[in-house]
Amino acid sequence: MVTGGTRGIGAAIAVSLVRCGYEVSVSGRSRDGEAPPDCTYSGCDFEDSDQLRSFVEQLSMNEFDILINNAGINKIGPLATYDPEDFERIHRVNVMAPFMLCRAVVPGMCERGFGRIVNITSVFGVVSKPERSAYSASKFALFGMSRALALEVASQNVLVNCLAPGIIDTELTRSVLGEEGVEDIKRQIPIGRLAKPEEIASFVSFLVSEENTYMTGQNIIIDGGFTSA
Ligand code: NDP
Repeated sequence: MVTGGTRGIGAAIAVSLVRCGYEVSVSGRSRDGEAPPDCTYSGCDFEDSDQLRSFVEQLSMNEFDILINNAGINKIGPLATYDPEDFERIHRVNVMAPFMLCRAVVPGMCERGFGRIVNITSVFGVVSKPERSAYSASKFALFGMSRALALEVASQNVLVNCLAPGIIDTELTRSVLGEEGVEDIKRQIPIGRLAKPEEIASFVSFLVSEENTYMTGQNIIIDGGFTSA
């Protein structure tokens, strides 16, 4: 299951997993949304707790070996005037949904003795910038949750990691930063460009594979050098 697999990083992850031979399901917000080729689709708006509850029920009735919590939202703004409802909305999608989805799949993974979970965090869940209080809070929280879960299930061969992308060329980035913001941030990335979603997807494919036998509880940064500068 790849959440937010209709676009951007999630779609690239879904395509990469299909190429590796997995049966892949993706989720998006709308009931009749589109999945990448050869993936099945389910609709669920994670901001809506009733929809989330029934999605979780559906998930726990299936045997998912791999869960990628990728769906995420962002809205920037100074903390002093930030709308608390936006803070809550961001936490519903970026933290509560991954928590509920992990809860749904972990018992089956432990029973079967195999599971791989990757939660997509962000460089702004490692460092931060002004106006990212809500987003950074959610991504730091997601890593904290993942770390605790990794410790709970490590002995059952269920490995839980986070992947923290830098600045990726997706609709989310372009809508949050605008064209000028994109040009500005490029100058702050040592590699000198945004990443393509596929550059994140290929590493996720390694993390969920049987080749990853020992890495768990980590937040792996792929950012073209952004956080090293
Ligand atoms: P996009 O905006 O391109 O895609 C977001 C995906 O999440 C879509 O598939 C969308 O589904 C789904 N989604 C959005 N809102 C909801 C919701 N309320 N309920 C359920 N699903 C929802 O995002 P990106 O690919 O850029 O980002 C993916 C992840 O990577 C996010 O967690 C983001 O925080 C993280 N990230 C992104 C970075 C970047 O530079 N882009 C950098 C660091 C981290 P649909 O369109 O079908 O509604």
